[in-house]
Amino acid sequence: MVRVTPLGRAAVLAVGSELLTPSRVDTNSLFITEQLNLLGVDVLLKTIVGDDRGELAAALRAALARVDLVVCCGGLGPTDDDVTRDVVAQVLDRPLVEDGEVAARIEARFAGRGLRMPGINLRQAMVPAGARVLANGHGTAPGLWVEHGDRLVVLLPGPPRELKPMMAALVDGPLRERTAGLSLVRRVLRITGRTESHTEEAVRTLYAEWARAGVPVAATILASLGQIELHLSARAGRRADADAALDAASSQVVERLGLDVYSSDGRPLEQVVGDLLAARRLRIAVAESCTGGLLASRLTDVPGSSRYVDRGVVVYANDAKTDLLGVPAALLSAHGAVSEPVAVAMAEGIRARAGTDVGIGVTGIAGPGGGTPEKPVGTVAVAAALPDLTRSRLFRFVGGREMVKFQASQAALDMVRRMLVSGARS
Ligand code: ATP
Repeated sequence: MVRVTPLGRAAVLAVGSELLTPSRVDTNSLFITEQLNLLGVDVLLKTIVGDDRGELAAALRAALARVDLVVCCGGLGPTDDDVTRDVVAQVLDRPLVEDGEVAARIEARFAGRGLRMPGINLRQAMVPAGARVLANGHGTAPGLWVEHGDRLVVLLPGPPRELKPMMAALVDGPLRERTAGLSLVRRVLRITGRTESHTEEAVRTLYAEWARAGVPVAATILASLGQIELHLSARAGRRADADAALDAASSQVVERLGLDVYSSDGRPLEQVVGDLLAARRLRIAVAESCTGGLLASRLTDVPGSSRYVDRGVVVYANDAKTDLLGVPAALLSAHGAVSEPVAVAMAEGIRARAGTDVGIGVTGIAGPGGGTPEKPVGTVAVAAALPDLTRSRLFRFVGGREMVKFQASQAALDMVRRMLVSGARS
Protein backbone atom coordinates (compact mmCIF):
# COMPACT_ATOMS: atom_id res chain seq x y z
CA MET A 1 0.00 0.00 0.00
CA VAL A 2 1.31 3.46 -0.86
CA ARG A 3 1.72 5.61 2.25
CA VAL A 4 0.53 9.14 1.61
CA THR A 5 1.88 11.99 3.76
CA PRO A 6 -1.00 13.66 5.60
CA LEU A 7 -1.91 17.11 4.32
CA GLY A 8 -1.17 19.77 6.90
CA ARG A 9 -0.56 23.11 5.19
CA ALA A 10 -3.00 24.73 2.83
CA ALA A 11 -3.44 27.74 0.59
CA VAL A 12 -6.74 29.20 -0.57
CA LEU A 13 -6.97 30.88 -3.96
CA ALA A 14 -10.16 32.86 -4.56
CA VAL A 15 -10.61 33.55 -8.26
CA GLY A 16 -12.81 36.31 -9.65
CA SER A 17 -12.19 39.85 -10.84
CA GLU A 18 -15.28 41.00 -8.95
CA LEU A 19 -13.50 40.08 -5.70
CA LEU A 20 -10.90 42.74 -6.44
CA THR A 21 -13.52 45.50 -6.58
CA PRO A 22 -14.70 47.42 -3.52
CA SER A 23 -18.18 45.89 -3.80
CA ARG A 24 -17.57 42.14 -3.37
CA VAL A 25 -16.05 40.40 -0.38
CA ASP A 26 -14.31 37.03 -0.57
CA THR A 27 -16.27 35.13 2.06
CA ASN A 28 -15.59 31.69 0.56
CA SER A 29 -12.04 31.60 1.85
CA LEU A 30 -13.26 32.18 5.41
CA PHE A 31 -15.56 29.18 5.11
CA ILE A 32 -12.86 27.06 3.49
CA THR A 33 -10.41 28.03 6.26
CA GLU A 34 -12.93 27.17 8.95
CA GLN A 35 -13.52 23.77 7.38
CA LEU A 36 -9.82 23.01 6.93
CA ASN A 37 -9.17 23.98 10.53
CA LEU A 38 -11.70 21.37 11.60
CA LEU A 39 -9.28 18.84 10.18
CA GLY A 40 -6.28 20.45 11.83
CA VAL A 41 -5.03 21.85 8.51
CA ASP A 42 -3.45 25.29 8.80
CA VAL A 43 -4.08 27.88 6.10
CA LEU A 44 -0.72 29.52 5.44
CA LEU A 45 -1.60 31.59 2.44
CA LYS A 46 -4.68 33.27 1.01
CA THR A 47 -4.69 34.94 -2.38
CA ILE A 48 -7.34 36.67 -4.43
CA VAL A 49 -6.72 36.82 -8.16
CA GLY A 50 -8.80 38.21 -10.99
CA ASP A 51 -9.96 36.20 -13.99
CA ASP A 52 -6.51 36.37 -15.49
CA ARG A 53 -4.60 33.32 -16.70
CA GLY A 54 -1.15 34.71 -16.01
CA GLU A 55 -1.95 35.91 -12.50
CA LEU A 56 -3.72 32.71 -11.56
CA ALA A 57 -0.91 30.53 -12.92
CA ALA A 58 1.66 32.54 -10.94
CA ALA A 59 -0.41 32.37 -7.75
CA LEU A 60 -0.97 28.63 -8.13
CA ARG A 61 2.74 27.94 -8.74
CA ALA A 62 3.67 30.04 -5.70
CA ALA A 63 1.15 28.19 -3.55
CA LEU A 64 2.27 24.76 -4.75
CA ALA A 65 5.83 25.63 -3.79
CA ARG A 66 4.81 26.31 -0.19
CA VAL A 67 1.91 24.08 0.80
CA ASP A 68 0.62 20.60 0.13
CA LEU A 69 -3.06 21.47 -0.36
CA VAL A 70 -4.38 24.24 -2.59
CA VAL A 71 -8.11 24.98 -2.60
CA CYS A 72 -9.24 27.22 -5.47
CA CYS A 73 -12.73 28.67 -5.60
CA GLY A 74 -14.52 30.38 -8.47
CA GLY A 75 -13.92 30.66 -12.17
CA LEU A 76 -15.39 27.26 -13.03
CA GLY A 77 -18.30 28.64 -15.06
CA PRO A 78 -18.87 28.06 -18.77
CA THR A 79 -17.77 31.44 -20.10
CA ASP A 80 -14.43 32.57 -21.50
CA ASP A 81 -13.53 34.51 -18.37
CA ASP A 82 -13.81 31.36 -16.25
CA VAL A 83 -10.19 30.30 -16.45
CA THR A 84 -9.52 28.18 -13.35
CA ARG A 85 -9.96 24.78 -14.99
CA ASP A 86 -7.68 25.63 -17.93
CA VAL A 87 -4.96 27.21 -15.80
CA VAL A 88 -4.85 24.35 -13.31
CA ALA A 89 -4.53 21.85 -16.18
CA GLN A 90 -1.74 23.91 -17.70
CA VAL A 91 0.21 24.41 -14.44
CA LEU A 92 -0.12 20.74 -13.49
CA ASP A 93 0.76 19.80 -17.05
CA ARG A 94 -2.33 17.73 -17.78
CA PRO A 95 -4.43 17.74 -20.93
CA LEU A 96 -8.11 18.65 -20.54
CA VAL A 97 -10.38 15.76 -21.47
CA GLU A 98 -14.15 15.67 -21.78
CA ASP A 99 -15.86 13.75 -19.00
CA GLY A 100 -18.91 12.08 -20.55
CA GLU A 101 -20.73 11.71 -17.24
CA VAL A 102 -20.37 15.38 -16.38
CA ALA A 103 -21.56 16.38 -19.87
CA ALA A 104 -24.61 14.11 -19.52
CA ARG A 105 -25.37 15.47 -16.03
CA ILE A 106 -25.25 19.10 -17.20
CA GLU A 107 -27.41 18.28 -20.19
CA ALA A 108 -29.93 16.55 -17.92
CA ARG A 109 -29.97 19.57 -15.59
CA PHE A 110 -30.94 21.83 -18.51
CA ALA A 111 -33.44 19.28 -19.83
CA GLY A 112 -35.04 19.09 -16.39
CA ARG A 113 -35.83 22.80 -16.73
CA GLY A 114 -37.11 22.28 -20.28
CA LEU A 115 -34.01 23.91 -21.82
CA ARG A 116 -31.45 22.91 -24.40
CA MET A 117 -27.88 22.92 -23.07
CA PRO A 118 -25.90 25.77 -24.68
CA GLY A 119 -22.75 24.46 -26.36
CA ILE A 120 -20.49 26.55 -24.11
CA ASN A 121 -21.56 24.53 -21.07
CA LEU A 122 -19.55 21.63 -22.44
CA ARG A 123 -16.50 23.56 -21.19
CA GLN A 124 -17.61 22.60 -17.71
CA ALA A 125 -17.33 18.93 -18.68
CA MET A 126 -13.63 19.35 -19.55
CA VAL A 127 -11.49 18.07 -16.70
CA PRO A 128 -7.73 17.77 -16.24
CA ALA A 129 -6.78 14.16 -17.09
CA GLY A 130 -6.82 11.99 -13.99
CA ALA A 131 -8.92 14.43 -11.96
CA ARG A 132 -11.72 13.22 -9.76
CA VAL A 133 -15.06 14.95 -10.35
CA LEU A 134 -16.96 16.29 -7.32
CA ALA A 135 -20.72 16.35 -7.85
CA ASN A 136 -22.45 19.73 -7.60
CA GLY A 137 -26.00 19.28 -6.33
CA HIS A 138 -26.76 22.99 -6.60
CA GLY A 139 -25.32 24.11 -9.95
CA THR A 140 -23.73 23.04 -13.19
CA ALA A 141 -20.01 23.49 -12.43
CA PRO A 142 -18.60 20.32 -10.88
CA GLY A 143 -15.77 20.55 -8.39
CA LEU A 144 -12.47 18.86 -9.16
CA TRP A 145 -9.92 16.97 -7.09
CA VAL A 146 -6.51 16.79 -8.76
CA GLU A 147 -3.60 14.85 -7.23
CA HIS A 148 -0.18 16.18 -8.21
CA GLY A 149 2.65 14.14 -6.71
CA ASP A 150 2.36 14.66 -2.97
CA ARG A 151 0.27 17.80 -3.54
CA LEU A 152 -3.48 18.08 -3.88
CA VAL A 153 -5.39 20.78 -5.75
CA VAL A 154 -9.14 21.07 -5.14
CA LEU A 155 -11.31 23.28 -7.33
CA LEU A 156 -14.67 24.47 -6.01
CA PRO A 157 -17.38 26.58 -7.69
CA GLY A 158 -17.65 30.24 -6.64
CA PRO A 159 -21.28 30.61 -5.56
CA PRO A 160 -21.32 29.99 -1.79
CA ARG A 161 -24.49 27.88 -1.95
CA GLU A 162 -22.69 25.51 -4.31
CA LEU A 163 -19.31 25.63 -2.60
CA LYS A 164 -20.39 25.10 1.00
CA PRO A 165 -22.07 21.68 0.69
CA MET A 166 -19.27 20.47 -1.57
CA MET A 167 -16.54 21.56 0.84
CA ALA A 168 -18.39 20.16 3.85
CA ALA A 169 -18.77 16.79 2.09
CA LEU A 170 -15.03 16.73 1.37
CA VAL A 171 -14.24 17.46 5.00
CA ASP A 172 -16.53 14.64 6.10
CA GLY A 173 -15.00 12.22 3.61
CA PRO A 174 -11.96 12.26 1.33
CA LEU A 175 -10.19 15.26 2.86
CA ARG A 176 -10.47 13.80 6.35
CA GLU A 177 -8.83 10.63 5.06
CA ARG A 178 -5.94 12.66 3.62
CA THR A 179 -5.17 14.62 6.79
CA ALA A 180 -3.68 13.43 10.06
CA GLY A 181 -7.22 13.50 11.44
CA LEU A 182 -6.35 16.25 13.91
CA SER A 183 -8.98 18.68 15.06
CA LEU A 184 -8.08 22.35 15.45
CA VAL A 185 -10.57 24.00 17.77
CA ARG A 186 -10.74 27.70 18.52
CA ARG A 187 -12.32 29.59 21.37
CA VAL A 188 -12.77 33.32 21.81
CA LEU A 189 -12.87 34.89 25.27
CA ARG A 190 -14.24 38.42 25.34
CA ILE A 191 -13.02 40.85 27.94
CA THR A 192 -13.95 44.36 29.06
CA GLY A 193 -12.75 46.66 31.78
CA ARG A 194 -9.01 46.40 31.19
CA THR A 195 -6.51 47.32 28.52
CA GLU A 196 -4.74 44.97 26.16
CA SER A 197 -1.48 45.24 28.11
CA HIS A 198 -3.19 44.66 31.47
CA THR A 199 -4.86 41.59 30.02
CA GLU A 200 -1.57 40.35 28.60
CA GLU A 201 0.19 40.98 31.90
CA ALA A 202 -2.38 38.96 33.81
CA VAL A 203 -2.40 35.91 31.55
CA ARG A 204 1.08 35.90 30.00
CA THR A 205 2.58 33.45 32.48
CA LEU A 206 -0.02 30.88 31.40
CA TYR A 207 1.25 30.82 27.81
CA ALA A 208 4.39 28.77 28.56
CA GLU A 209 2.36 26.32 30.63
CA TRP A 210 -0.16 25.90 27.80
CA ALA A 211 2.57 25.43 25.21
CA ARG A 212 4.07 22.54 27.21
CA ALA A 213 0.74 20.78 27.90
CA GLY A 214 -0.14 17.38 26.40
CA VAL A 215 -2.59 19.18 24.13
CA PRO A 216 -0.89 22.56 23.59
CA VAL A 217 -3.01 25.70 23.57
CA ALA A 218 -1.93 28.75 21.54
CA ALA A 219 -3.14 32.25 22.46
CA THR A 220 -3.44 35.58 20.63
CA ILE A 221 -4.83 38.83 21.98
CA LEU A 222 -6.83 41.07 19.66
CA ALA A 223 -7.75 44.48 20.96
CA SER A 224 -10.20 47.06 19.73
CA LEU A 225 -11.65 50.05 21.55
CA GLY A 226 -14.03 48.85 24.24
CA GLN A 227 -13.28 45.18 23.86
CA ILE A 228 -10.38 42.75 24.10
CA GLU A 229 -10.52 39.28 22.61
CA LEU A 230 -8.30 36.42 23.69
CA HIS A 231 -8.25 33.78 20.94
CA LEU A 232 -7.27 30.31 22.09
CA SER A 233 -6.69 27.33 19.81
CA ALA A 234 -5.84 23.70 20.47
CA ARG A 235 -5.09 20.81 18.15
CA ALA A 236 -5.65 17.19 19.09
CA GLY A 237 -6.41 13.81 17.60
CA ARG A 238 -9.87 13.86 19.14
CA ARG A 239 -12.02 16.96 19.17
CA ALA A 240 -13.04 16.22 22.75
CA ASP A 241 -9.38 16.46 23.87
CA ALA A 242 -8.95 19.83 22.16
CA ASP A 243 -12.19 21.01 23.79
CA ALA A 244 -11.03 19.82 27.19
CA ALA A 245 -7.70 21.65 26.81
CA LEU A 246 -9.58 24.83 25.88
CA ASP A 247 -12.00 24.41 28.79
CA ALA A 248 -9.07 24.18 31.19
CA ALA A 249 -7.27 27.16 29.65
CA SER A 250 -10.47 29.27 29.67
CA SER A 251 -11.03 28.48 33.35
CA GLN A 252 -7.51 29.62 34.18
CA VAL A 253 -8.12 32.90 32.35
CA VAL A 254 -11.42 33.42 34.14
CA GLU A 255 -9.68 32.69 37.45
CA ARG A 256 -7.18 35.47 36.73
CA LEU A 257 -9.45 38.04 35.10
CA GLY A 258 -12.65 37.30 37.02
CA LEU A 259 -15.69 39.27 35.96
CA ASP A 260 -13.72 41.08 33.27
CA VAL A 261 -14.33 38.02 31.08
CA TYR A 262 -17.88 38.45 29.92
CA SER A 263 -18.08 35.68 27.36
CA SER A 264 -16.17 32.51 26.62
CA ASP A 265 -18.71 31.06 24.23
CA GLY A 266 -18.84 33.66 21.50
CA ARG A 267 -21.87 35.59 22.82
CA PRO A 268 -21.69 39.36 22.33
CA LEU A 269 -22.14 41.61 25.37
CA GLU A 270 -25.75 42.55 24.50
CA GLN A 271 -26.67 38.90 24.48
CA VAL A 272 -24.87 38.16 27.75
CA VAL A 273 -26.84 40.99 29.36
CA GLY A 274 -30.06 39.84 27.68
CA ASP A 275 -29.58 36.29 28.92
CA LEU A 276 -28.98 37.55 32.48
CA LEU A 277 -32.13 39.69 32.34
CA ALA A 278 -34.21 36.86 30.89
CA ALA A 279 -32.94 34.33 33.44
CA ARG A 280 -33.88 36.67 36.28
CA ARG A 281 -37.15 37.72 34.61
CA LEU A 282 -36.12 41.38 34.73
CA ARG A 283 -37.14 44.09 32.27
CA ILE A 284 -35.03 47.00 31.12
CA ALA A 285 -35.58 50.52 29.78
CA VAL A 286 -32.87 52.85 28.52
CA ALA A 287 -32.47 56.62 28.26
CA GLU A 288 -29.78 57.71 25.84
CA SER A 289 -28.27 61.01 24.90
CA CYS A 290 -24.92 60.69 23.11
CA THR A 291 -25.45 57.08 21.98
CA GLY A 292 -28.56 58.18 20.06
CA GLY A 293 -30.32 54.83 20.30
CA LEU A 294 -27.29 52.58 19.82
CA LEU A 295 -27.81 50.97 23.20
CA ALA A 296 -31.44 50.11 22.46
CA SER A 297 -30.42 48.96 19.01
CA ARG A 298 -27.78 46.59 20.39
CA LEU A 299 -30.14 45.21 23.03
CA THR A 300 -32.78 44.55 20.37
CA ASP A 301 -30.27 42.95 17.99
CA VAL A 302 -30.72 39.83 20.11
CA PRO A 303 -33.56 37.56 18.96
CA GLY A 304 -36.19 37.23 21.68
CA SER A 305 -35.22 40.54 23.33
CA SER A 306 -38.90 41.55 23.57
CA ARG A 307 -38.96 39.36 26.69
CA TYR A 308 -36.89 41.92 28.55
CA VAL A 309 -36.65 45.19 26.60
CA ASP A 310 -39.45 47.56 27.53
CA ARG A 311 -38.49 50.84 25.84
CA GLY A 312 -35.75 53.25 24.95
CA VAL A 313 -35.81 57.02 24.64
CA VAL A 314 -33.31 59.32 22.97
CA VAL A 315 -33.16 62.51 25.03
CA TYR A 316 -30.69 64.85 23.41
CA ALA A 317 -31.93 68.26 24.51
CA ASN A 318 -32.05 69.27 28.17
CA ASP A 319 -35.82 69.87 27.80
CA ALA A 320 -36.26 66.33 26.59
CA LYS A 321 -34.44 64.99 29.65
CA THR A 322 -36.78 66.99 31.87
CA ASP A 323 -40.00 66.32 29.89
CA LEU A 324 -39.56 62.61 29.30
CA LEU A 325 -37.57 61.55 32.34
CA GLY A 326 -38.20 64.18 34.98
CA VAL A 327 -34.55 65.20 35.25
CA PRO A 328 -34.75 68.41 37.34
CA ALA A 329 -33.71 71.54 35.43
CA ALA A 330 -31.76 72.61 38.52
CA LEU A 331 -29.70 69.43 38.41
CA LEU A 332 -28.88 70.05 34.75
CA SER A 333 -27.72 73.58 35.39
CA ALA A 334 -25.82 72.69 38.56
CA HIS A 335 -23.82 69.79 37.10
CA GLY A 336 -24.18 70.13 33.33
CA ALA A 337 -25.92 67.60 31.09
CA VAL A 338 -22.81 65.43 30.95
CA SER A 339 -22.43 64.47 34.58
CA GLU A 340 -22.95 61.49 36.84
CA PRO A 341 -25.88 63.06 38.73
CA VAL A 342 -27.72 63.64 35.44
CA ALA A 343 -26.95 60.11 34.22
CA VAL A 344 -28.33 58.79 37.52
CA ALA A 345 -31.46 60.93 37.20
CA MET A 346 -31.93 59.63 33.63
CA ALA A 347 -31.52 55.99 34.69
CA GLU A 348 -33.84 56.34 37.67
CA GLY A 349 -36.25 58.49 35.63
CA ILE A 350 -36.68 55.98 32.81
CA ARG A 351 -36.87 53.10 35.29
CA ALA A 352 -39.67 54.82 37.23
CA ARG A 353 -41.61 55.93 34.14
CA ALA A 354 -41.36 52.58 32.40
CA GLY A 355 -41.95 50.64 35.60
CA THR A 356 -39.09 48.29 34.78
CA ASP A 357 -36.59 46.59 37.08
CA VAL A 358 -33.56 48.10 35.35
CA GLY A 359 -32.97 51.58 33.94
CA ILE A 360 -29.89 52.93 32.14
CA GLY A 361 -28.87 56.52 31.54
CA VAL A 362 -26.09 57.57 29.16
CA THR A 363 -25.01 61.15 28.55
CA GLY A 364 -21.76 62.32 27.00
CA ILE A 365 -19.81 64.21 24.39
CA ALA A 366 -19.22 62.08 21.29
CA GLY A 367 -17.36 64.83 19.45
CA PRO A 368 -15.71 66.03 17.38
CA GLY A 369 -17.06 69.36 18.75
CA GLY A 370 -18.59 70.19 22.11
CA GLY A 371 -15.66 69.38 24.38
CA THR A 372 -14.34 71.70 27.10
CA PRO A 373 -11.13 71.53 29.16
CA GLU A 374 -13.06 70.03 32.10
CA LYS A 375 -15.18 67.77 29.93
CA PRO A 376 -13.24 66.89 26.78
CA VAL A 377 -14.66 64.98 23.84
CA GLY A 378 -15.10 61.37 24.92
CA THR A 379 -16.41 62.25 28.38
CA VAL A 380 -19.43 60.03 29.01
CA ALA A 381 -21.46 59.54 32.18
CA VAL A 382 -23.20 56.19 32.52
CA ALA A 383 -25.63 55.12 35.22
CA ALA A 384 -27.59 51.97 35.86
CA ALA A 385 -30.46 51.71 38.32
CA LEU A 386 -31.63 48.39 39.75
CA PRO A 387 -34.35 48.00 42.38
CA ASP A 388 -31.97 48.27 45.32
CA LEU A 389 -28.84 49.72 43.79
CA THR A 390 -27.84 52.56 41.47
CA ARG A 391 -24.33 52.95 40.11
CA SER A 392 -22.71 55.60 37.98
CA ARG A 393 -19.35 56.30 36.48
CA LEU A 394 -17.69 59.00 34.40
CA PHE A 395 -15.63 57.65 31.49
CA ARG A 396 -13.06 59.32 29.25
CA PHE A 397 -13.11 57.47 25.95
CA VAL A 398 -10.75 58.02 23.03
CA GLY A 399 -11.44 57.68 19.31
CA GLY A 400 -13.83 59.30 16.87
CA ARG A 401 -17.55 59.87 17.27
CA GLU A 402 -18.56 56.38 16.27
CA MET A 403 -16.04 54.75 18.61
CA VAL A 404 -17.07 56.95 21.53
CA LYS A 405 -20.68 55.94 20.95
CA PHE A 406 -19.74 52.26 20.78
CA GLN A 407 -17.60 52.40 23.91
CA ALA A 408 -20.38 54.24 25.77
CA SER A 409 -22.90 51.55 24.84
CA GLN A 410 -20.37 48.89 25.80
CA ALA A 411 -19.74 50.54 29.19
CA ALA A 412 -23.47 50.79 29.90
CA LEU A 413 -24.13 47.15 29.06
CA ASP A 414 -21.09 46.11 31.07
CA MET A 415 -22.21 48.10 34.09
CA VAL A 416 -25.57 46.31 34.11
CA ARG A 417 -23.88 42.94 33.58
CA ARG A 418 -21.57 43.41 36.54
CA MET A 419 -24.40 44.61 38.77
CA LEU A 420 -26.57 41.64 37.82
CA VAL A 421 -23.80 39.11 38.30
CA SER A 422 -22.28 40.37 41.50
CA GLY A 423 -24.33 43.21 42.92
CA ALA A 424 -22.24 45.34 45.22
CA ARG A 425 -18.97 43.49 44.49
CA SER A 426 -18.51 44.92 40.98
P1 ATP B 1 -20.67 29.74 -12.06
O1 ATP B 1 -20.08 30.65 -13.11
O2 ATP B 1 -21.04 28.39 -12.57
O3 ATP B 1 -21.77 30.37 -11.27
P2 ATP B 1 -18.05 29.90 -10.90
O4 ATP B 1 -17.25 28.83 -10.24
O5 ATP B 1 -17.54 30.39 -12.21
O6 ATP B 1 -19.52 29.39 -10.97
P3 ATP B 1 -17.86 32.62 -10.25
O7 ATP B 1 -18.45 32.99 -11.57
O8 ATP B 1 -16.43 32.86 -10.01
O9 ATP B 1 -18.15 31.11 -9.95
O10 ATP B 1 -18.72 33.29 -9.11
C1 ATP B 1 -20.12 33.25 -9.11
C2 ATP B 1 -20.66 34.08 -7.96
O11 ATP B 1 -20.27 33.45 -6.73
C3 ATP B 1 -20.08 35.47 -7.85
O12 ATP B 1 -20.83 36.42 -8.52
C4 ATP B 1 -20.12 35.73 -6.37
O13 ATP B 1 -21.41 36.21 -6.03
C5 ATP B 1 -19.94 34.40 -5.77
N1 ATP B 1 -18.54 34.23 -5.37
C6 ATP B 1 -17.50 33.86 -6.16
N2 ATP B 1 -16.36 33.79 -5.45
C7 ATP B 1 -16.68 34.14 -4.19
C8 ATP B 1 -15.93 34.26 -2.97
N3 ATP B 1 -14.62 33.99 -2.94
N4 ATP B 1 -16.59 34.65 -1.85
C9 ATP B 1 -17.91 34.91 -1.90
N5 ATP B 1 -18.67 34.80 -3.01
C10 ATP B 1 -18.08 34.43 -4.14
